[in-house]
Amino acid sequence: MVILPTKDNLKRRGVLEEELCFFCCQERETAHHILWACPSAQDVWGLSIRKLQKCSLHCSTILTSKEIWQRRNCILHGGKFTHPIVVANLARDRLLQFSQANTLVINCGDLGAAETKTKWQAPPGFYKVNWDIALSTVNNCMGIGVIVRDERGHVLAAKNQTIHATHESVTGEALAALHAAEFCRELGFFEILLKGDSMSVVKAIGENTQNWLKYGQIMEDTKMVLRSL
Ligand SMILES: [Zn+2]
Repeated sequence: MVILPTKDNLKRRGVLEEELCFFCCQERETAHHILWACPSAQDVWGLSIRKLQKCSLHCSTILTSKEIWQRRNCILHGGKFTHPIVVANLARDRLLQFSQANTLVINCGDLGAAETKTKWQAPPGFYKVNWDIALSTVNNCMGIGVIVRDERGHVLAAKNQTIHATHESVTGEALAALHAAEFCRELGFFEILLKGDSMSVVKAIGENTQNWLKYGQIMEDTKMVLRSL
């Protein structure tokens, strides 16, 4: 959040002389204020929470914040004020698009027949496996997180690991997918739904053809692990 060019940040860097929020003119325009505390943001959150509560809270928070920030920038550059309902609906639509693009159902006994689902459903007997990464070029390392939930959403297992090297984000996502697959094999989770942030990685896992991209060997290793489940 601190990297956003809010008026508060720009004043501290000597770019601006004043830092008041131009919506309410009451508080300093910090990231927290403009994205959450300002009445203009609260109008959006009040509409969003009800509509997005069934979806991923983490994703919905990011996407709603993004739409609030874009509305702020639009106004700052001479655009019109967008009604909170429109902003909330945009965030909801983005979340649905994101969810549809990144959910892949894999029956590990038949990897070649993997199919893409357009909506999340809770299939009985499956475990949902999410992975995510965090890259730090400053510290030259990346973190991988994996979490396994049952069909009711209960957390069954989780792991995190630090790798002392940096990669492009898509390669990092591929590595995380491999870690997720190995984690499932290690713990004996055989019927799984894999979900990650990189559409190209998720799609590559479901493809039968050999992947010749830079991270292709990692994907082949991942598929081999999944076939062994
Ligand atoms: Zn404000």
